[in-house]
Amino acid sequence: MTERSCAACDCALEGEAIQVTIAGQVVEVCCEECAERLREAKASALRGEG
Ligand SMILES: [Zn+2]
Repeated sequence: MTERSCAACDCALEGEAIQVTIAGQVVEVCCEECAERLREAKASALRGEG
C-alpha cells in the first residue's frame, strides 16, 4: 500500500502532505482546510457521540 489519500476528502496525496495527529494517530491530508476538518471532527467526537 504505497498510495496515500487525504484522510478528510479522500483525494490522492501527491508530493507534500500535511500531517495531523488525531487521537494519537498521525494522518495525512491534502491541505490545511482538510486538517481543520479533522480537528473539528475529533473535537466533536470527544464530546461523547459514538
Ligand atoms: Zn483533502
